[in-house]
Amino acid sequence: MYRTLQKYFGYSEFRPLQEDIIKDVLNKKDVFVLMPTGGGKSICYQIPALIIDGLAVVVSPLISLMKDQVDGLVSNGISAAYLNSTLSYNEVQKTTRAIVEGHVDILYVAPERLCMKSTQELLSHVNVSLFAIDEAHCISEWGHDFRPEYRRMGFLKKKYPDVPVIALTATATAKVKENTIKQLDLVSPSVYVASFDRANLSYEIRPKNNTYGDMVSYLKGQRGNSGIIYCNSRKSVESVSTKLNREGFHTLPYHAGLNDAKRQDHQERFIRDDVDIIVATVAFGMGIDKPNVRFVIHYDLPKNLEGYYQETGRGGRDGLECECILYFSRADWYKIKYLIDQKPKKSERDIAMTKLQEMIDYCESTSCRRKALLRYFGEELESDNCGSCDVCLNPRDTYDASDVARTFISCVDEVNERFGLTHIVDILTGSKSKKIISYKHDRLKSYGTGDGYIKSEWVEMAREMIRLGHVDVKEGKYPILLLNKKSHDVLGGGEVHLTRSMGVAAAKPRKAPVSVSRPGNSAAVRPAYAGSKKVGSTVGKSSAKTTQSSTQKRTSAPGKAKRVPTPISRPNKKLFDKLRELRKRLAVEANVPPYIIFADTSLRQMAAKLPKNEKEFIDITGVGEVKLKKYGSIFMEEIAAFEKGSK
Ligand code: ADP
Ligand code: ZN
Repeated sequence: MYRTLQKYFGYSEFRPLQEDIIKDVLNKKDVFVLMPTGGGKSICYQIPALIIDGLAVVVSPLISLMKDQVDGLVSNGISAAYLNSTLSYNEVQKTTRAIVEGHVDILYVAPERLCMKSTQELLSHVNVSLFAIDEAHCISEWGHDFRPEYRRMGFLKKKYPDVPVIALTATATAKVKENTIKQLDLVSPSVYVASFDRANLSYEIRPKNNTYGDMVSYLKGQRGNSGIIYCNSRKSVESVSTKLNREGFHTLPYHAGLNDAKRQDHQERFIRDDVDIIVATVAFGMGIDKPNVRFVIHYDLPKNLEGYYQETGRGGRDGLECECILYFSRADWYKIKYLIDQKPKKSERDIAMTKLQEMIDYCESTSCRRKALLRYFGEELESDNCGSCDVCLNPRDTYDASDVARTFISCVDEVNERFGLTHIVDILTGSKSKKIISYKHDRLKSYGTGDGYIKSEWVEMAREMIRLGHVDVKEGKYPILLLNKKSHDVLGGGEVHLTRSMGVAAAKPRKAPVSVSRPGNSAAVRPAYAGSKKVGSTVGKSSAKTTQSSTQKRTSAPGKAKRVPTPISRPNKKLFDKLRELRKRLAVEANVPPYIIFADTSLRQMAAKLPKNEKEFIDITGVGEVKLKKYGSIFMEEIAAFEKGSK
């Protein structure tokens, strides 16, 4: 196993679970694997395929990816092939012959192709070593990508009872998992579930003001790197892409309004590093194998956390760092709600609204992003500080907001818990709206007592109080605020601490509000901007550097991959860029995506370790025997030339 890993893939160790999975397959056991994108699923069937005699059949739904997958294997000296509708008659004949003559170790096919008579006839002439079912969740109608063709594969275990079947997916709920195992008729399979924590991704939420300008300055620090910018509409995709190009960035748009050929072309150019950035709607991403995506920006609010996690998951597949930045504004809520309101079914609207609310809660939350995301997917992160999300990197100041809270709660009390948040805020800020006047609420004791803060600040503070459970909300067509035990504690003198959240931090209060219950004590309620309780907070936004170094410090969840990106210094970066250019030239010559020549991980190690001979070169991760022969000297020459030049 280790020899095969080193010889063909150039890796020196297995990632978590890989070794156990491979052993099971070698022992002819059926296996179900649930592993996040980038976790390293492919090796789990490729290595057994190389060790066991015969032909391994890999079923994959994405015909468009097969060529790249096969090219990648071939570049490592593995005899792989695919059969699909893009091949000519002659090519099919040639591949078929090679299979029958035993020259192929791994064959990629789509499920329809596998079920075809001609394919079954072909397989009857060879020894099948294993079946690997990639994207196995497609077999379950409970999954979001159900494909009826997948259903037809239930016959495999009957027809080939002695051939192990390994089913792999990155997306499966418990229900989908059970259903997949049942549909494939797996025989007491070993089930492997990897942690979904992606240690190399960092998560950050930025307030959505001056968004474009903020993004441009961020992108300047990412020059030459690949990244994805997600927008919610075709229109903003087009306009962001056009504006960025005018400023000298290299971007292409991607959305459902472009025709197939154009979409395919833009995707291809992104994968091949011809453009750095793809600006896209969520239509982009399915089956993108590009490993070196260094940032994923959400220019608009995603509709739900599933989508968000999947989109960010397209970054950092190579295990190197990827920064995920989301620009958050509550205003996006209305836009998405409008779209949700167009759905015909009430049940669908309700689910979508709940998911949207969970998305908002995530953005407004002041605890670790990673923890929140993983918890959403049913996984507990042990540590409270992940070290690579904006919350953990820049703990926000908290301040004593007891008087603010009393002011607010007194008002809810004064109107007998019959009004919603906006109306309460209108009372506090002394609004002269029709509603206020008609209810004669301008005569309340609370009226105008909160005019130390503007409306949006009050709304933010109130929302945090609700999140912290100091006030309850009764949902309904017109949600109203209710008091609970905690509210009464506050009125009785209990303390409330709020965080200096994004909006409030951006807009400084003009003057402190006056508390109803304790008038005159206003000085104490001003948020402590000057840091009365500042806990090691870092100023400014997390830069690539902080994120990278703190990724290394992360305490890991049990059983989770502990991958430490190789840090890159300035001179190394220059050499890295040179090696990247060389890689691109070779890729163009060979007509393959650059990552098939070498992953970024390999180039970074070369730039850091400066290999001078074959022995040093094969020690680089991702360099197996074939790549050493093919590329060793040309890359070492480039490195030597660089060293000479910089002396
Ligand atoms: P998945 O299919 O789970 O999304 P892949 O199989 O494409 O993930 O693997 C993601 C990346 O990790 C690939 O570049 C792969 O070569 C690399 N990789 C897989 N296993 C290892 C390993 N043991 N050591 C180093 N890199 C690995
Ligand atoms: Zn965190």
